[in-house]
Amino acid sequence: MNIKTTLLFLVFSGINLNAQNTGLSATEKVVVQHIDKNKAQYEKTSLAIWELAELGFQEDKSTLLLQNLLKENGFNVVSGQEGMPTAFIAEFGEGKPIIGFLAEYDALPGLSQKVSANMEPLEERAPGHACGHHLFGTGSAAAAIALKDWMIKEKIKGTIRVYGTPAEEGGGGKVFMARGGLLDDVDAVLTWHPASRNDASAESSLAIVSAKFTFKGVSAHAAMAPWRGRSALDGVEAMNDMVNMMREHVEPDARIHYAITNGSMAPNVVPAKAEVYYIVRHPEVKEVIRLFERVKKCAQGAAIMRLCQI
Ligand SMILES: [Zn+2]
Repeated sequence: MNIKTTLLFLVFSGINLNAQNTGLSATEKVVVQHIDKNKAQYEKTSLAIWELAELGFQEDKSTLLLQNLLKENGFNVVSGQEGMPTAFIAEFGEGKPIIGFLAEYDALPGLSQKVSANMEPLEERAPGHACGHHLFGTGSAAAAIALKDWMIKEKIKGTIRVYGTPAEEGGGGKVFMARGGLLDDVDAVLTWHPASRNDASAESSLAIVSAKFTFKGVSAHAAMAPWRGRSALDGVEAMNDMVNMMREHVEPDARIHYAITNGSMAPNVVPAKAEVYYIVRHPEVKEVIRLFERVKKCAQGAAIMRLCQI
């Protein structure tokens, strides 16, 4: 999906934009012209975000790029909502309806990548953007700016709000903004994701709970006196074992995944500390909470079994 079709999707998300469409309406033309005129600026911003590849809640420079882009285009920008320094809200216009766009800009750990279709890290183990996440913020900002131009041209009243939501990849900045009531007066919120096709989707996504489990044991020399130690890594492994056995007995729509974020550094040291990062998902919030309680029980059982603490 290129930036032009992305914008068309965002601004006119009810319209079918596939290749069979013949001609554009006058309104669509305003958007296309806007993108043609400003394409270079939007490409520059999204590529800069790609290269910065900042992790969730640390998107210090990426958020400023988007805030400045929106400021330069007549939006009022306020940042730092809900105790998140990299969050922002950019607003234009007044009164109803209030239309929101979600802008996201965080990277994932370990996905550093050149602009290439092959796996070519810029820097080994450094963060990088996955599945087009460097485009999210710029695409949404561009859609909001194009919509603003159209509203001015057609003398249409209403408010456009771009929500800069940190940590889409893990941390859920937008959840804190919603909890803080910052979306309460919005009539509709649009977001998008790069894909191999252009269409509008009203699909729901999965509810999610994530947590890091830290196991504490007792360190010892693994050859000289292992009997004196209690391995925190054993705790993590036992927990994962139990969760993996649980998989057979969860609903097919459930998703449970984990990464060992601290698995100790040296095999000849009984590790005193280890950590595993879990994500639990299901279409229903209630079921996610039930599943997460079962995952917690696995952690507690592992800690008892391995004489660790969590
Ligand atoms: Zn994605």
